[in-house]
Amino acid sequence: MSSYDCIIVGAGPAGASAAYHLSKNGHQVLLLEKASLPRYKPCGGGVSPQIADWFDFDFEPVISQKVTRARYTWKLGDVVETDLSLPIWMVRRNEFDHYIVQQAQRKGAVLQDDTKATGIAFEENCWKVTTSRNETLTGKYLIAADGARGPMAKWLGFNKRKTSVAGAIEIEPKVAVENSHVVHFEFGLLKNGYVWNFPKADGYSIGSGAFCTNQRKGGDLVQPMVDYAASFGVDGDRTQKHGHPVCLWDGDQTLHTQNALLAGEAACVVDPFTAEGIRPSIFTGIKAAEAVDLALAGDSDALANYSRIIADELGSEMRLASRLAKAFYTAPKLGYRTIIKQPSATRAMVKIFTGELKYADMVQKALRRLSGGLLAR
Ligand SMILES: Cc1cc2nc3c(=O)[nH]c(=O)nc-3n(C[C@H](O)[C@H](O)[C@H](O)COP(=O)(O)OP(=O)(O)OC[C@H]3O[C@@H](n4cnc5c(N)ncnc54)[C@H](O)[C@@H]3O)c2cc1C
Repeated sequence: MSSYDCIIVGAGPAGASAAYHLSKNGHQVLLLEKASLPRYKPCGGGVSPQIADWFDFDFEPVISQKVTRARYTWKLGDVVETDLSLPIWMVRRNEFDHYIVQQAQRKGAVLQDDTKATGIAFEENCWKVTTSRNETLTGKYLIAADGARGPMAKWLGFNKRKTSVAGAIEIEPKVAVENSHVVHFEFGLLKNGYVWNFPKADGYSIGSGAFCTNQRKGGDLVQPMVDYAASFGVDGDRTQKHGHPVCLWDGDQTLHTQNALLAGEAACVVDPFTAEGIRPSIFTGIKAAEAVDLALAGDSDALANYSRIIADELGSEMRLASRLAKAFYTAPKLGYRTIIKQPSATRAMVKIFTGELKYADMVQKALRRLSGGLLAR
């Protein structure tokens, strides 16, 4: 193949989803991935079942577990357990991401894994991508889906992206799982974030992340995670830890340039309240595919419209999530009491996670609860 319609760099949820939808529409797609697939990605693997609506294949083979209850703690005590109104998926990212890539390959996408993009240049109306295999690949359009650590955004000239870079670490002990339908969150051990235990069929994902954008002070992510792991009988000190940055949404921004788009975490679309990144990354991957599809058909506004669509559909929600995060982490103990411990809040958050409700439908109420609690103190 001398020239592709689109080269997509990064085979995570954003890139794989873009590859699937573009290939399905008959375009010649190359998916470049620096790792050898399947690859590990530090992640809790909590996925919204809403994504099933965006694909025409079945995700069941890569759903490791479905959780139906949430258990919350504050400093390992003050326990609350509540039903989730809908089951939430738990996936292993090596399996989940590879599965979407395989579906894209079935539609005709060409995968080149174990191949790092090492440079890009726009020449003769095409993108030339050089790789670690000393080759130069050519594509009419480029989608940068290379995640929080990828170089593509900078190479494309997005030197000052609006984002707040959070930190998270994870361990994935393979142990016998107790109460495999329960997802666990701990809010008191870590400042400005939370610690989690997401069960899988063959073990846990236990991790910690400091996410709040207005007052993150770094802090130690390891000890809270180790202490939490111990409460599940897991020796976190002796389990390999994986750290990874998280590019939280921190304002609407231009996501398009000459024949190229940013998608997924390269576009900084992670929810600043929950740190959910998989669904927004898939969403932007699909919207990027739609934009490239239209551009290939001659629509000269398609790429600019992509930036607008992401701002309208995602940005409006993320703005509210950011407000909620700032208010919540200003007084997390109060937030735990007035929001987390209320079963109605869990029901609302599940509906937001599954796309049935918007932040706009619940944030005012949550902020009122927080400010009411502050006044009562
Ligand atoms: C510890 C942790 C826990 C998380 N838990 C959750 C969770 O439970 N639920 C949730 O929704 N979100 C979670 N997230 C966020 C989620 O993992 C990310 O938002 C999501 O993976 C972003 O998808 P992506 O496709 O944009 O990027 P990625 O999944 O990061 O994929 C990018 C790909 O690009 C490749 N790449 C990078 N550079 C190059 C290059 N030069 N050439 C070729 N390939 C390249 C990488 O190897 C990678 O495979 C978590 C994040 C962390 C760090």
